[in-house]
Amino acid sequence: MTTKNSVMVFVQQDDGNVAEVSVELICKARELADRVKAQVSAVLVGSGVQKAAESLIPYGVDRVYTVDSRNLAHYTPVPYTKAVTEVVKKHSPQIVLYGATTTGRDLAPRIASALRVGLTADCTDLQIGDHQTKEQTYENILYQIRPAFGGNIIATIVSPERKPQMATVREGVMKMREPDPAYKGEVVPENIELGPELFTSEIIERVKEEKLVNLKGAQVVVAGGVGVGSKENFALIHQLAHVLGGEVGASRAAVDAGYVGKDHQVGQTGTTVRPRLYIACGISGSVQHRAGMDESARIIAINTDPEAPIFQVANYGIVGDLKEVVPRFIKAFRAKV
Ligand SMILES: Cc1cc2nc3c(=O)[nH]c(=O)nc-3n(C[C@H](O)[C@H](O)[C@H](O)COP(=O)(O)OP(=O)(O)OC[C@H]3O[C@@H](n4cnc5c(N)ncnc54)[C@H](O)[C@@H]3O)c2cc1C
Repeated sequence: MTTKNSVMVFVQQDDGNVAEVSVELICKARELADRVKAQVSAVLVGSGVQKAAESLIPYGVDRVYTVDSRNLAHYTPVPYTKAVTEVVKKHSPQIVLYGATTTGRDLAPRIASALRVGLTADCTDLQIGDHQTKEQTYENILYQIRPAFGGNIIATIVSPERKPQMATVREGVMKMREPDPAYKGEVVPENIELGPELFTSEIIERVKEEKLVNLKGAQVVVAGGVGVGSKENFALIHQLAHVLGGEVGASRAAVDAGYVGKDHQVGQTGTTVRPRLYIACGISGSVQHRAGMDESARIIAINTDPEAPIFQVANYGIVGDLKEVVPRFIKAFRAKV
């Protein structure tokens, strides 16, 4: 096992708090690395990040490379690109993964360009396998899997010729594993020279907006689609979610129709959810919507059309008008509590 054979994850942090997607990626990296008997490494850039680095090891990280400096406290593109590029060059991992967050989407292409390697954006799955061309067989290549052509096909993309193979991955699609406190790994500080010429921008003020919608962490999601009919009718969806202590979701068409804000969108271009219960009301069940909810533990669908594709993934289907069915649900649940 050498570091040259590692699967590396760029770990995003803010004020020393590691982004959830980075932990999700470490768990996936561990799974990929185990398949090819490789190590998992992480690169963490920031200020005072020792504790954050140590917190990653129980998820199966063998080495966390830290670039720690006061002027790296918050993400700025040029110094972060330099720091991560140098760490990648030094340790030559086979694969580098980034969360498809605003930071990851900004940083990963800069590193791909600096290293002259490929990058697949917004992956929803990653696998390891062989790839054959007319000339040769490449073994243990990263399959970078993502929807393409408006979600109508699932494309598997490979970049076997140049290393590292790099991908950004959607938040919430990789499952987190339980940490193992006994896992042995190490934090390795890296000394990367970052001259003043790299600090071309300065953060003067940071404004944080609290996320009011927490779809990703919700145990119950009640989602409405175009079938809800109007913004006023969407109150029914809010009421049912409230009674169940859940969060409100929506199809993209319902968001586009102005029934509810974009933060509520579930699906390929919205949030991926995996609640214990997902109730889809007046949602047809397009591939793009299902991509964000079909791993929910239980799915109830309410739709007037018995042929609606949502019924293919539902555990319980109710063929009926949601304006009649949802108030009955609300009444029944209210009576229970
Ligand atoms: C690149 C791309 C990305 C996309 N990303 C997403 C995404 O992230 N999320 C997403 O959701 N979509 C996404 N879409 C859009 C997607 O293709 C569908 O257009 C959308 O999901 C449809 O939303 P809907 O089910 O609410 O509407 P419709 O498909 O119009 O379905 C409405 C449903 O309501 C039912 N209905 C009507 N009246 C009632 C009633 N009174 N009671 C019960 N049922 C009723 C109808 O039978 C129908 O099945 C994307 C599309 C593209 C091209």
